[in-house]
Parts: sequence; structure tokens; C-alpha cells
Amino acid sequence: MAAAGTAVAALVSAAPATSATAAASARPAADARTALAVPDISVANVKAHLTQLQSIATANGGNRAHGRPGYKASLDYIKGKLDAAGFTTTVQQFTSSGSTGYNLIADWPGGDTNNVVFSGAHLDSVTAGPGINDNGSGSAGILETALTVARQGAKPTKHLRFAWWGAEELGMVGSRYYVNNLPSSERAKIDGYLNFDMIGSPNPGYFVYDDDPGIESVFKAFFSAKGVPTEIETEGDGRSDHAPFKNVGIPVGGLFSGADYIKTSAQAQKWGGTSGRAFDSCYHRSCDTISNINDTALDRNSDAIAYAVWTLGGA
Ligand SMILES: [Zn+2]
Repeated sequence: MAAAGTAVAALVSAAPATSATAAASARPAADARTALAVPDISVANVKAHLTQLQSIATANGGNRAHGRPGYKASLDYIKGKLDAAGFTTTVQQFTSSGSTGYNLIADWPGGDTNNVVFSGAHLDSVTAGPGINDNGSGSAGILETALTVARQGAKPTKHLRFAWWGAEELGMVGSRYYVNNLPSSERAKIDGYLNFDMIGSPNPGYFVYDDDPGIESVFKAFFSAKGVPTEIETEGDGRSDHAPFKNVGIPVGGLFSGADYIKTSAQAQKWGGTSGRAFDSCYHRSCDTISNINDTALDRNSDAIAYAVWTLGGA
């Protein structure tokens, strides 16, 4: 997640709501056939991706930041996995702060390309550290979900697209570039954009974006079935890659486990963890390492990503 105040003013401007589209597209969570088909995402596999991202940071000066070698190495790791699994991948280049940046887009062949269910996460870290919770966690969660789609040979009704964004920490530069260069006819085909930025915070909360009611209800149904209370996400409003999509009227949703806001005693009572302490006290610091992950939060949120992709995608 970008630091508070990083959001460009234009991103905060209101966009016409098109929530009817997503409300219609969100399948009822009670659809038993859909529920049975949703796979359990292996948290061990998600952790293995995080271990790789940690190694990449360690080998490249301790970070995976925009314009630094650790960023491109991270992208190459993820692209390699997706290519081997049968995804159609595209690397989109842009320039920011004098350096070349990269977005990675991966399409799962098939499904109705006029109805795209799009999941994304930023892949860059800040320069201060390896960025394993922010945002190796979201990057690894959607990677393992995509690989599970491939492993199962899923044939969803809708078209599935995944993206790993560059230069989010500089103000959602990569995702803004992508949206700005997407023709309006292509924007109209996106049923919903799901954003995952920090999903394994060490002192976790369970926050659901409340932007689009249809998408929000799918995530809430998942957590409700698991008996995990959720709250509406407010800390990251306008501060991550869903903002450019929302600003052009695309329905958005997502999950978040908390950054430098402090967990209250009420929150500690319902979620466990430590009150009076930040959800992620290593946010944007050198200690955002492989040790800075709560495995339960990572597991639940990864499963929730799959639940949303399968449910909204009609897999
Ligand atoms: Zn961040």
C-alpha cells in the first residue's frame, strides 16, 4: 500500500457508479455447486512464493522497489510460473521517476472476454525493505490462485485476468498507466477489479472494501461462513491500485489486513492479536520480511481470493 498522501488528487475524484453491473454479476453465495467447486488454496505454496520474493530481495540490495533489480527479478519469477502453467502473459512497460517500470498481465485462456473478472496486486516494495507483507502477500496470494485455476483446468463462464502492478508505492503509477491506456471499450468489459494489497499482516484485521456492494457481499459471505468477523476497509481508501479502476467507473473490491493503524481492544477481542499495536508495525520498514507474516491471515485471505474468483467468475 502506498503511504498516506501518495494518492494523486485526480484519483480521489468521484466516478460514475456502475454498481448495478457487479451486483448483477455477483452470484449468490448460496449456490451450492459453486461453493463445492471452490478450492482450498495451499498456504504452504503461498509461503513458498514469499520465500522466493524474500530471496530475490536479499540478493538485490534488500528490496524489490521500482527501478531496482529486485523488482524485475520478482516479475520474472511470477511470469515464469504463469507461463509454465498456460497463462497468456504480457509485460507492459512504462516510465516513472526516470526508470522503466513493468506491469505483468496474465490472462487465463477461455471464458467470455466481454465479462472479465480481474484480480490484481502490486508487486513493488518500497526501497526500505523487502516488502513481504506489502505486498508480497497479495502478489503471492493471487499467483497461487491463478496457478490453482490452471492446475484444476478451470473453465469459468467469465474470462479471468490477473495483474501484478509496478510502482504502486510511487502513487499507483503502473495501474494508472494500465487503466489510462485501456480503450473505453475494453474498460467496459471488466465486470469487476479485485485488489489485494497486504493480506498477511502480523497483527491482522480482516477488512473488506466496501466500494461495490456485489463484490463486497461475496467476500463477506466467505468470512461469515468461516466465522471470521470483518470490518469495512477505510485505512487504504484511495491508496492502492483499485483507485484508478474505480475512478473510471469499474466496480472494485478487495481485502486488507491492516498497515500502520493501531488495533483497538475491541478488534483484538474479535480477531486476537495485540491491542494498542499496529496491524503491521513493519509497514514500509526493513523488517517487512518473511517473518512479518501471520500465516492464518494469509491462509484465510488466500482462500477468500479463490472464493471470489470462482464465485464471480462462474468456475
Ligand atoms: Zn506500501
